[in-house]
Amino acid sequence: MSRPVPRQSSSLLSLLITGSVYFVVASIALMASRFEGGLAFIWGANAFLMAQLLTSRTAHWPRTIIACAIASALSTSLFGMGPLAALPMAAINVSESLIVALICRHYLSERAVTGSVRPLVVFILALCGVADVVTGVAAAAVASLLTPVGFTASWLQWYTGHALGGLTCTPILLMLLQGEFGRWMRHTPTAVKLEALALLALFTLVTVHIFYWARYPMLFAPLLPLVLIAFRVGHMGAAASIVILAVIGGMATLSGLGPLMIIPATLGERVQAFQFYLALSFLLSMPVAAELNGRRRLFQMLQESESRFRAIAEHSGDLVLDIRVDGVITYASPSALEQIGCAPDLLVGQSAADLVDPRDRAVVSAAHRRALAQPGAVHKVEFRPLLAVSDLDWCEMVSRAVIDDRGQPSGVVSMIRDISRHKARQRALQQVAARDSLTGADSRRAFLEKLDAEMLRVRQGARSSLLLIDIDHFKSVNDRHGHNAGDRVLTGFVERLVAGLRGVDSIGRLGGEEFAILLVDCDIDRATILCEQLRARLVRPIELNDRGEAIGITFSAGLVELDGDSTRSAMLEAADKALYRAKHSGRNCLRLAA
Ligand code: GH3
Ligand code: MG
Ligand code: MG
Repeated sequence: MSRPVPRQSSSLLSLLITGSVYFVVASIALMASRFEGGLAFIWGANAFLMAQLLTSRTAHWPRTIIACAIASALSTSLFGMGPLAALPMAAINVSESLIVALICRHYLSERAVTGSVRPLVVFILALCGVADVVTGVAAAAVASLLTPVGFTASWLQWYTGHALGGLTCTPILLMLLQGEFGRWMRHTPTAVKLEALALLALFTLVTVHIFYWARYPMLFAPLLPLVLIAFRVGHMGAAASIVILAVIGGMATLSGLGPLMIIPATLGERVQAFQFYLALSFLLSMPVAAELNGRRRLFQMLQESESRFRAIAEHSGDLVLDIRVDGVITYASPSALEQIGCAPDLLVGQSAADLVDPRDRAVVSAAHRRALAQPGAVHKVEFRPLLAVSDLDWCEMVSRAVIDDRGQPSGVVSMIRDISRHKARQRALQQVAARDSLTGADSRRAFLEKLDAEMLRVRQGARSSLLLIDIDHFKSVNDRHGHNAGDRVLTGFVERLVAGLRGVDSIGRLGGEEFAILLVDCDIDRATILCEQLRARLVRPIELNDRGEAIGITFSAGLVELDGDSTRSAMLEAADKALYRAKHSGRNCLRLAA
């Protein structure tokens, strides 16, 4: 129960601090830079408010805004245009910060404005392109009503003071509030810190020289170390340099020293010129640093992913190849030796197609082309290798395109793995599936595939026949002698038939005790003779065992000559109808399809 109290008091304290900082910064600016008696020429207080808003949750905005509005009203009453201007100026000041914060929140998902280019650009456009243009009009209206300074001059004073102050100070304050300086100090190696320190010391020296000692106006001189710092140290170094430049240059210019003294103008105009210089220095160094920062991060990510994938490639049992668009190998992983018996170095520069058996080159090339045409997808192809070692006879290749910086495929990464054992297992399974386990005849599916293939030949002019066979009264065999004896009869039946068939013919078990025989290059007359020869083979009973027990069986058959127009099922149906007629004609006979 006691927790909310300290939280409330701490948030009250932080509000008090926020208001006080705003008040101090605003009051100093008002006291030091109301050169013409109207608006201040320098304004950093709103940069502080913007940084506060951009780093806090939207729910906290109202109290922060109220604290700074009160601070603004107080400082305007005490040191600015007086109590009459206090409320309108407070409203205008907080509006400027609020507009920038709202635009940044709307367009940016990340909170950091300084680390990369896009958020920086959004911030600059929000500040200079929208907020200061709009609030400048309101502020100039107030100043031109209450002071002798005209509307246009007031607008210019507001715009330059606020735009330049915001540009220079907000990103730096953001870095401070988000703890970026702390993180940089913790995570940067000492050597880099020392280099940063030396470069900043050099920059300080050059700046002091230009603003205090130099006899010539050499405002461009600090830009060289500034750019150097942006490149070497990054956005943190660039921000620190801007602070150094602002402090040294600002102090010198306000005390009537430095290269800006050659401008034949009022102090206010010189301060404006200095702010321009500062903002330009900022715009010169920060985006460069931000861009470099982004690239550094990208490079780091690239290095990490490169080493991760190299480790995978080099320790994988699979062969990893980088293949160019034209099919030439540019990288082969060490497992090349083990997988295809070829040193990786020898593979580099060769065409990937040379690794493939000529029979499969077309499909592999097609997969390569497909991978290039559809870069997001993974493409798989199986092929027989040309350089086969030991029992490697089938490979699987998984390919994916590599995209270059223009989004175009620049090649393909392929992983090749040995699938010989898988293929052998697949073949064995196919063979098992193609055979009837009891009789050794073709399975129904394998037989029908052969029938399909034969019907294609028939369409091209061949003459072949289909014979459908069903054992007569087989049920009674089972009933009288048992199921095992029935099985033995089925096996013996097929053995007898196979012995009477030619090598080109096929016998398949369509189900139970029903069989089909494909008589290749055999018209219906020849098929009839063949069928009767098969029947003759069953005159002798089928032996059940060595003890001389045997069972005599007969079969009925339906015969059809395949024709080039009918479908497979029409052919089967015709043969089946003929078989049915054979059964009804007293069994143990052959009937031809009508
Ligand atoms: P039909 O002359 O009309 O063809 O008489 P059938 O008894 O042969 O006719 P049905 O089709 O009614 O009976 C076939 C029998 O074949 C029924 C079934 O028990 C038997 N059978 C089917 N497959 C097997 C098998 O693998 N082994 C054994 N032992 N018997 C089988
Ligand atoms: Mg039967
Ligand atoms: Mg039957």
